[in-house]
Amino acid sequence: DHGFAHPVCVGVEVSGEGDALPLTSGRADDWFEHDGQITKRPVRALTLAALAPRPFEHLWDIGGGSGSIGIEWLLSDPSLQATAIEPRTDRVERIRVNASKLGVDRLKVLHGTAPGALRGLPTPDAVFVGGGLSPDLLSYLESLATGTRLVANAVTLETEVLLTQAHARLGGELMRIEISDIAPIGPKRGWRAAYPITQWTHVL
Ligand code: SAH
Repeated sequence: DHGFAHPVCVGVEVSGEGDALPLTSGRADDWFEHDGQITKRPVRALTLAALAPRPFEHLWDIGGGSGSIGIEWLLSDPSLQATAIEPRTDRVERIRVNASKLGVDRLKVLHGTAPGALRGLPTPDAVFVGGGLSPDLLSYLESLATGTRLVANAVTLETEVLLTQAHARLGGELMRIEISDIAPIGPKRGWRAAYPITQWTHVL
């Protein structure tokens, strides 16, 4: 039962019957309630590695969805802070449920649309864009203090072109993430490819 997996309980769960919450990012998707819009486990692990949290840093998780990125950021260290931005009311509620189920009480959830909802917030140390990338959002992020680490994932061609153009203009790193899992083909098995993800990492 995931309900008992608060980090402080890990020590007493090791030899028990409950699931202990793993310590590293890239936890199984079913730790999070979601409606299909979730950064899947292996991509989430790579994304947290790229976000590379350091003590006392603050993350904006733009396009919070299920909240999995902001929550795994916060689970990395008790000194970290995060703000998730999400326009859909049902997902805002789901982010709150997931955070409290996993014992995270430091996630601020902002019901709104980027970039508008970001104005006036204190500048973060790291930004993840998992949804809502637009030329407007990019130029707003470029106006932030230098040194902010930006990680953006694209699954559609429309978003990918924004990232490849931003990379040509500003530099940083582009990575293509192509992952397959096993699915049945009749009585046998085959590799089932997920949509490729393009990830841009850049220090502003
Ligand atoms: N990283 C999330 C999944 C993101 S799905 C997770 O792991 O759960 C993309 C999300 O971006 C959706 O929930 C969508 O509602 C949100 N979104 C779309 N446009 C947005 C915008 N302009 N500002 C903020 N969020 C946006």
